[in-house]
Amino acid sequence: MAAAGVPGDRKGILERLDSGEVVIGDGSFLITLEKRGYVKAGRWTPEAVVEHPNAVRQLHMEFLRAGSNVMQTFTFSASEDNMESKWEDVNAAACDLAREVAGKGDALVAGGISQTSVYKHHKDEATIKKIFRLQLEVFARKNVDFVIAEYFEHAEEAVWAVEVLKEAGKPVAATMCIGPEGDMHDVPPGECAVKLVKAGASIVGVNCRFGPSTSLRTMKLMKEGLQAAGLKAHLIVQSLGFHTPDCGKGGFLDLPEYPFALEPRVATRWDIQKYAREAYNLGIRYIGGCCGFEPYHIRAIAEELAPERGFLPPASEKHGSWGSGLDMHTKPWIRARARREHWENLLPASGRPFCPSLSKPDA
Ligand SMILES: [Zn+2]
Repeated sequence: MAAAGVPGDRKGILERLDSGEVVIGDGSFLITLEKRGYVKAGRWTPEAVVEHPNAVRQLHMEFLRAGSNVMQTFTFSASEDNMESKWEDVNAAACDLAREVAGKGDALVAGGISQTSVYKHHKDEATIKKIFRLQLEVFARKNVDFVIAEYFEHAEEAVWAVEVLKEAGKPVAATMCIGPEGDMHDVPPGECAVKLVKAGASIVGVNCRFGPSTSLRTMKLMKEGLQAAGLKAHLIVQSLGFHTPDCGKGGFLDLPEYPFALEPRVATRWDIQKYAREAYNLGIRYIGGCCGFEPYHIRAIAEELAPERGFLPPASEKHGSWGSGLDMHTKPWIRARARREHWENLLPASGRPFCPSLSKPDA
């Protein structure tokens, strides 16, 4: 076995995707650790990696056990513009935690950067690229396996991020937090994907802001855009673990329930099995999640795609496929739920008779 930090015999991200393997991403950190008391909503910065490393380590462990092949560094918003002097220690500690856990299984470490707070005020390319480069220098020093530019709402800034990330000579993935209507300057998803690939990204797609089915609609548009331009790239989707059919262009941020009352929208594990199957059928081979996407959702991806992958994750030791564990139950009406047809066709009740099923976005 390779020592932690030296994944010598481990296949890299592009080797895996080039050979047609399914790569399972990880899920929610900020939203999940906020609920557990380690992240403050509003700022959404990840100082938990230094303040409460065990909380972050445990969440990485749960995703690994659920089947994740990628441990993303918990470095969302951990840039100099958001965290001042703390940014460097946070990035270094996040890399160490991700590497420590990745070494316990078949996972790679991905260094992640996200959109800056600067872009919306002044589109100064040199200043913004300098911010990205600072985080990248830590990732390079810590020798992450690949890098991800994620959560970009403007194609232009995402392209700048990819151009900087390319400098480290590692594979680059890029995901935008956009829906089918495109980025905040009305650049359609297909055109965003083309720009990212031309800038040097090998893996492109979407993350966050929209639920599973909306994210897959956006991915279909990205795929069609790449095909029309004659470009080849691997596809990645990391959707919310919340359903958002009523969202406008801004995604779940504009819902009145964001961020403290989203629970009625949580996807079930069966919803996520459907998402994994549809993503796979669309040709997406890097499938994971973002906010609200818990370890059991990741396990649902691994279980749905077990026939293709040939194995189940460790967490499936405690989960019979399609509810089969219930066949041991003493009550016959519960035993009767130990079958695929029950869970696949169920319309789960919300238990909230006075609630609407959809909201009106604020923006
Ligand atoms: Zn997210």
